[in-house]
Amino acid sequence: MIGLQGILFDEKSSYLRGAAKAPPVIRECLKSDSANLFSESGLDISEVPINDHGDFIISSYFDIYDITLKNAASDKLITLGGDHSISYPIVKAIHENQGEFDILHIDAHSDLYDEFEGDRFSHACPFARIMEDGLAHKLVQVGIRTLTAHQREMADKFGVEIIEMKDYRIESVPSFDRPLYISVDMDAFDPAFAPGIAHHEPGGFSSRQVIDLLLAMDQEIIGADIVEFNPDRDLNGMTGMLTAKLLKELIALMA
Ligand code: MN
Ligand code: MN
Repeated sequence: MIGLQGILFDEKSSYLRGAAKAPPVIRECLKSDSANLFSESGLDISEVPINDHGDFIISSYFDIYDITLKNAASDKLITLGGDHSISYPIVKAIHENQGEFDILHIDAHSDLYDEFEGDRFSHACPFARIMEDGLAHKLVQVGIRTLTAHQREMADKFGVEIIEMKDYRIESVPSFDRPLYISVDMDAFDPAFAPGIAHHEPGGFSSRQVIDLLLAMDQEIIGADIVEFNPDRDLNGMTGMLTAKLLKELIALMA
């Protein structure tokens, strides 16, 4: 079955807090009377059985691992964040349950810092920790447009495949031959499409480009997260509705 959990955590945000408030807002947007519950593929997701584990207040970062281990035990789990630091303990727990998988990471940032402002678990570091622990067989990052020299070195060291935003075409995304985990940082979108985030990085994806990329994935998806939505920064609820749209399409893909 598909499982759903919300992680109310933004303590590892380096710039602005607020992403911890996102999960209940995403749930509300999904139920909004302004839209319906049909995916673009024609599936009524209200008919899809979902094991909703609810939203979790996190007192200590590594509690995210224990909570996810429980919630992912019998489910293909979708997580609503929270800042991007949550992806490391989540991927670690899913790896424990599921074994080998590949990761598609959609983001303006590669989040490959060895440490950031003294914290190895900062939201700028989760993919360094994931690769260090050998949790992804293959990691493909798309939408990246902020690479530092250090992060290029880290990508080389870990064999991360990066398709920078400036070079992105949907045809350039490699195929995956293992089950897939998808991590969507909302700042991958151009701020014009998703203003409700902490780090506005112009020159990003349109909503259509990311939806088309998701719809092109034809292998089994064993888990996903939607992170870094900051309701405090949203305008007219537009980022909230985009996160809900992504959630709807991910549920349809995983059903
Ligand atoms: Mn990120
Ligand atoms: Mn980012």
